[in-house]
Amino acid sequence: MDILDVEKSKCIGCGACVSIDAEHFDFDDDGLSEVISNDNLKSENLQNAIESCPTGAIRLAKTSEAYEGNVNSSSDYKQSSTVVNAISES
Ligand code: SF4
Repeated sequence: MDILDVEKSKCIGCGACVSIDAEHFDFDDDGLSEVISNDNLKSENLQNAIESCPTGAIRLAKTSEAYEGNVNSSSDYKQSSTVVNAISES
């Protein structure tokens, strides 16, 4: 199962993902992006939103690849970023 997530510490609240893909993203109370759906993860809008994030804050990865253990560790984030980059290039 794939998991979509926003790394809050990386999000600057620019709103690009919310504008491009309101199905998956909305603003939280702090004005940062949050994931509101984990359905339809192969949508073109989602891919565009991931590619449009200026800080690489959006993560989409297999649970077995990036979300085992502590998801906040830097090694996990690098691993999930690699997955996102692979998706973006395909
Ligand atoms: S595009 Fe990236 S930086 Fe901008 S609101 Fe979305 S997650 Fe945050």
